[in-house]
Amino acid sequence: MILIVDDKSENIYSLKQLLESKKFEVDTALSGEEALKKVLKNDYALLILDVQMPGMDGFEVAENMAGHSKSKDIPIIFLSAVNTDKTFITRGYESGAIDYVTKPVDPDVLLLKVKTFIRLYEQNRKLSSVQKSLLEEIEFRKEAERKKDEFISIASHELKTPLTSVKAYTQLLERSLKNNTLDLSNTYLKKSKIQLTKLENLIADLLDISKIESGELKLTKDHFKLESLLCSVIDIIKQTHEGVEIEREGDLLNLTIFADEIRIEQVIINYLTNAIKYSPEAQKIILKTSLEGEALKVTIQDFGIGIPKEKINNIFQKFYRVEESSLRFQGLGIGLYICSEIIRQHNGAVGVNSQLGKGSSFYFTLPLN
Ligand code: ADP
Repeated sequence: MILIVDDKSENIYSLKQLLESKKFEVDTALSGEEALKKVLKNDYALLILDVQMPGMDGFEVAENMAGHSKSKDIPIIFLSAVNTDKTFITRGYESGAIDYVTKPVDPDVLLLKVKTFIRLYEQNRKLSSVQKSLLEEIEFRKEAERKKDEFISIASHELKTPLTSVKAYTQLLERSLKNNTLDLSNTYLKKSKIQLTKLENLIADLLDISKIESGELKLTKDHFKLESLLCSVIDIIKQTHEGVEIEREGDLLNLTIFADEIRIEQVIINYLTNAIKYSPEAQKIILKTSLEGEALKVTIQDFGIGIPKEKINNIFQKFYRVEESSLRFQGLGIGLYICSEIIRQHNGAVGVNSQLGKGSSFYFTLPLN
C-alpha cells in the first residue's frame, strides 16, 4: 500500500486517482503528524510525501521515520518545489531509499518512480522472507546437531556400562572356574547374561531408530491371540525382574488381533520395563486390557515417580528424557518414541496419564477392524 501525504486534499485526490487507475492500493494523510501515526501502525510499501506542509513538514516526517525500526526502510518520494536543494531532501534519511519529483507533478515520471520503488519493495520483502526461513532452518539444524551430539555421548556411555560389567563378570567367572566354585560361576554367568541382554536391547533400539529415520520399519502382520502374548510377556518380565508383581486386569481373553506380534510385544515390554525402572519404591504394576469403541486398549499402570504435568506432552518425542529424573535413571530417551512409531504404523494411538509422585498409566490402542 502507498501512503500519500499532502495538506491539500485536491492534490491528494488527483494523485490517488492516478495511482488507483494503475491498480495501486492507496492510503492518505493530511498532515505530517497523521502520516507518522499511520506509518507506525500500518505497513506501507512507499510514501509520497509533500515537502511543504504546515506543522510537521516532509523532512521532519522523514527524520522521525528514520528513528523507528518499523518505518526506517520505507522508501519515500518527496514532492518538492523546483528549487528545493537536493542535499536538503536527503537530510536525516540516509538509510531509506528516497527520490523526489518536482511540482507540478508529471504523472508519467511519478508512475515510473512508483513502479520502481514498489518492485524493489516486493523484491526486498521476498528476500527477507527467504532470509528469515534460512535463519530458522539454520537454527533448526544447529539444534538437531546439538541433540545428535548429546545423544551420541549418552549412547556411548549407555553401551559402555553393560560392556564393562560383562568384562568384570567374565574375569570373576574365570577366577571362580579356576577355584572350582561352580555356584559362583553360575551367578556370574547369569549376571553377564542380563548385561548382554541389556546391550542387545540397546543396539536393537538404535537400529530401530535408524530404520524409522529411513522409513524402513516394516510391519509383519498376522492373527494372534492377545492373551497368549500377554502371558508370555508377563513371564519374560518376571524372569528378568525379580520381585516385580504384575496384576492382570480386564477380560478380553479370547480376543484375536491382527498386528505385528513381535512389535506389539516390544511395545508392551518397553512400557513394562519403564514402569519397573521408574518405580524404584513400588513393585506392583497393573496390566489392563479394555475395549474403547472399535479399538483394543492396553494400559500399564505403575505407582512410581510419575511425570511433571508440563513435561507430559513431550514424553513420546525422540531423545526426550525428563530432566529431573535423567541423572537418577539410565536411558536413551528413544524407547517411547519407537513405541509411538510402531503403534502409529498400526493406526493406533499412544498416550499417558500421570501424577507426579503417584505413578503413571501408559496406554496404546489398536483398531480392531
Ligand atoms: P528412557 O527410559 O531410555 O529415558 P523412554 O523413551 O523409554 O527413554 O522414556 C522417555 C522418558 O519418559 C524417560 O526418560 C522418563 O523421563 C519418562 N518415563 C517413561 N516411562 C516412565 C514411567 N513409567 N514413569 C515415569 N517417567 C517415565
